[in-house]
Amino acid sequence: MPSSDPAFGRMLRQLVDLGVLKLETEPLDAAIERRLKQFWKSTTCPQCGNPTIRTWKSSDRIHCRSCQFKPVYTYGTPFHEKHLSTGEVLLSFMLYADTLLSISQIAVVLDRAYKTVFYAIKEVEAAVHRGFPLVWSQFQHTISGPTQIDESGKVCSGFKGQDPPRDSRHRGGSSRSGRTRWKGRHGDQLTLVAACRDALRVIRGRLGIAYDTDLEPVMEETADLSQPLGEVWTDGLQAYRRMEHDHKIVIHDETYVSSEGIHINQVECLFSLVKPWLRKFRGLSKHGLEQAAHTFGIVRSVNLVGASFEFLVDCLAVGGLHSST
Ligand SMILES: [Zn+2]
Repeated sequence: MPSSDPAFGRMLRQLVDLGVLKLETEPLDAAIERRLKQFWKSTTCPQCGNPTIRTWKSSDRIHCRSCQFKPVYTYGTPFHEKHLSTGEVLLSFMLYADTLLSISQIAVVLDRAYKTVFYAIKEVEAAVHRGFPLVWSQFQHTISGPTQIDESGKVCSGFKGQDPPRDSRHRGGSSRSGRTRWKGRHGDQLTLVAACRDALRVIRGRLGIAYDTDLEPVMEETADLSQPLGEVWTDGLQAYRRMEHDHKIVIHDETYVSSEGIHINQVECLFSLVKPWLRKFRGLSKHGLEQAAHTFGIVRSVNLVGASFEFLVDCLAVGGLHSST
């Protein structure tokens, strides 16, 4: 929850109150409506399973000719029955996932209650997670080349109501001078395990760096999203030596690029992007941190592959209906 005196956004609030930042979401509302109706035409009825759904430009109802089911076009998606327009729902998520604005700041920009925006974002996020694999597999692209995989040091999302420490690894233990600066309640800590292959980015928050439980699931997810996995490049971490997959190592203490050209620079670049992004949440639970890290990988992939926001609408259509069945 935001404190009464937020660290950022007070001046933005003044501009919203002045009417300077008045959002016009109608063009986005219209684009979302068109896209969802397209989706309905190409899918089966959620009630009877027949591919007989009709849509009209002039009506917000869709109609199944087999069972006469006649819901609104947002049925089953996170756009349904919100206090926000469809455009505001998507915009909230885009500002959350693709900028460094905090959810409190996004609520200011939209001039909506924090809780309204928070719950809309969380619902969109869950549907994006469910819908992404299918929509990604249908998107026109080829994923090729080696898979780079790497693990971060422990990360957390910063301290509630305080600035994040410069380096989380230097925190625990002693209570020497300066420690009091960090007395705010901090979020849980996780290790990030990430894989990069071409435009695909997979990030997961894990409890450790064991091969079977932490590293392999990320490799499997990467393989599922970019069949087949291809050659795997890692650093010299002991856990990777258990890998049976075709696998090359760069030993980091000695060099950043091996004589064969093996490196994991893409993953390190990804970590340098996701870490400041995670800090904007200022104290997440393990679950929240895992969710957020996963989201970042997905949205980074969508951006790198050059997809438009309609990709996200498709994820919400697919992922929303999944949850209701
Ligand atoms: Zn039907």
